[in-house]
Amino acid sequence: RTGRRPLIAGNWKMHMTHLEAIGLVQKLVFSLTEKDLDDAEVVVLPPFTALRSVQTLVTGDKLPVGYGAQDLSAHDSGAYTGEVSGAMLAALACRFVVVGHSERRALHGEDDATVAAKVQAVLRHGLTPILCVGEGLDVRRAGQHVGHCTDQLDAALEGLTAEQVRGIVLAYEPVWAIGTGEVATPDDAQEVCGALRSRLDGRFGPETAAVVRILYGGSVKAANTAGILAGPDVDGALVGGASLDTDEFAQICRSAA
Ligand code: PEP
Repeated sequence: RTGRRPLIAGNWKMHMTHLEAIGLVQKLVFSLTEKDLDDAEVVVLPPFTALRSVQTLVTGDKLPVGYGAQDLSAHDSGAYTGEVSGAMLAALACRFVVVGHSERRALHGEDDATVAAKVQAVLRHGLTPILCVGEGLDVRRAGQHVGHCTDQLDAALEGLTAEQVRGIVLAYEPVWAIGTGEVATPDDAQEVCGALRSRLDGRFGPETAAVVRILYGGSVKAANTAGILAGPDVDGALVGGASLDTDEFAQICRSAA
């Protein structure tokens, strides 16, 4: 993984009030040493309502922990009740925005076109999308997981330049592994992450493929992190459930270094 700094991102999903978020981030920053944070980039992805509180905690001379949002609107402003724009997230100095999480795709009907529009919205505001792709159990059983994921990647990156793609983080999240306790094997994770990188190489060239970080997500815990990250194309982890337990999450961050 020469030159690619490991990234560990905690997706809190719909957990944590802003007050609980303050407690969690304070404890997390306290648990991680400067060396841990040099070795791996650590990011939390709280609900929208906690972003401002997290910003006030981690903003200073030094940003020990990065933060971002779990979703955004594809639109920049307007009559979209309940939505949050990229401009609003940029104003909170978010650096990352998750796009295309399987829960958004499955529960909120986000299709490939919506995901592509959201990736563009993130980039328009100078932020970094964490673009999620991943197959369900039926696709995996049919042995079509690699093609499924590269198709989702192609659709989401439609119309982007190589320079824009260099500003993206990818996450391979097999749906059958999310929140189920059933983690992919290191070989499973490497197979798809490697295929995603080859696809980037084919479409955008080797320089772009070499710099884009590709995370694995799905039931990551401290005990399985080092094995998963041993794959040469696996550059970090997107962590759901385990990111709410500070000791466990800090241990995951240390295991990534
Ligand atoms: C996720 O929601 O992105 C995720 C990977 O969840 P979990 O770690 O709980 O499987």
